[in-house]
Amino acid sequence: MNSIRRMLVDASESAWLRERVPRYRFIRKASARFLPGEDVGAAIAAARRLAADGISTVVTHLGENVRDRRESDAATNEYLGLLDDIGVEGLPAEISVKLTQLGLDLDRELCYTNLAKLIERARSATVWIDMEQSAYVDATLQLYERAQKTYRRAGVCVQAYLYRTERDLASLISMGASVRLVKGAYSEPRAIAYAKKSEVDENFFRLAQMLLGGPARSAGVRAVMATHDRRLIRRILDWAAREGITKNQLEFAMLYGIQRAEQLRLAHEGYRTDVLVSYGTLWFPWYMRRLAERPANVFFVIRNLFSG
Ligand SMILES: Cc1cc2nc3c(=O)[nH]c(=O)nc-3n(C[C@H](O)[C@H](O)[C@H](O)COP(=O)(O)OP(=O)(O)OC[C@H]3O[C@@H](n4cnc5c(N)ncnc54)[C@H](O)[C@@H]3O)c2cc1C
Repeated sequence: MNSIRRMLVDASESAWLRERVPRYRFIRKASARFLPGEDVGAAIAAARRLAADGISTVVTHLGENVRDRRESDAATNEYLGLLDDIGVEGLPAEISVKLTQLGLDLDRELCYTNLAKLIERARSATVWIDMEQSAYVDATLQLYERAQKTYRRAGVCVQAYLYRTERDLASLISMGASVRLVKGAYSEPRAIAYAKKSEVDENFFRLAQMLLGGPARSAGVRAVMATHDRRLIRRILDWAAREGITKNQLEFAMLYGIQRAEQLRLAHEGYRTDVLVSYGTLWFPWYMRRLAERPANVFFVIRNLFSG
């Protein structure tokens, strides 16, 4: 990870910046590129527009590391309302949650109870669990396994930059899990994570092959490739074609506002394509990670400063 990226990811974890930066109008304006809006209505409207293009939505309410039970209850209630809104409109949409938003730092049992409430309310839809910093990976996978054994309707994200993911994925495959594969958005030490982009990309490809391989398909794994990397997507598609993997066994996911043409192309080619739509007022850490993924985005922020 180069130094600008590391600086932006470190900024995402600063409480001081989180309090102050969102007050600047030009930053709010720049963030609108990745956020349809701060309220649930904006997320639902975005899901409706995406559905018209044959794209499913995964909705997330921004927030992480809640500090007390009141905040974890509020986050859970927000998601319960969101699930009701999705159900009322019959939208092709699922939700994705961060366990630290449901109270993981406070009490694991409380966090699991909140997660279980969401899975029950989601009925037949999958409830996705984001993967956060490496310190949370064990707890996230343990709570995922428990939810999956009980409900069989939970999905979890795994990060290609971590060395451990190959092992974690093997055990997720054996339980027929739903897995979203990403490169990884946080700043992790070399002792546990690949540092070079080329190494992360190569590991992503290896893990994608595992997720789509014969044993995973026999176990009923749902495999979602969550990347905007068109070269990597092409490589996976070419490999899948050679292996005789059919379109309904492979799914793609991207973030709202990024690689829109590629989203439409995959959907029109007949691949299930999901777009992750985020909403809420607590967008600062999330937005900093989006800037870190492509430091050129910082120039977009600066342009907004001068365009009033
Ligand atoms: C649906 C979804 C869910 C995710 N969930 C998680 C999660 O739970 N935990 C986690 O750690 N990470 C998560 N991520 C983020 C992920 O780890 C990466 O940080 C992010 O997707 C960027 O990596 P990339 O695979 O797109 O490849 P990159 O090599 O970073 O990007 C490939 C190309 O995509 C474009 N691009 C990528 N990011 C941006 C951007 N921010 N702005 C503009 N263009 C961009 C650029 O053209 C770039 O060259 C998620 C990503 C997606 C798509």
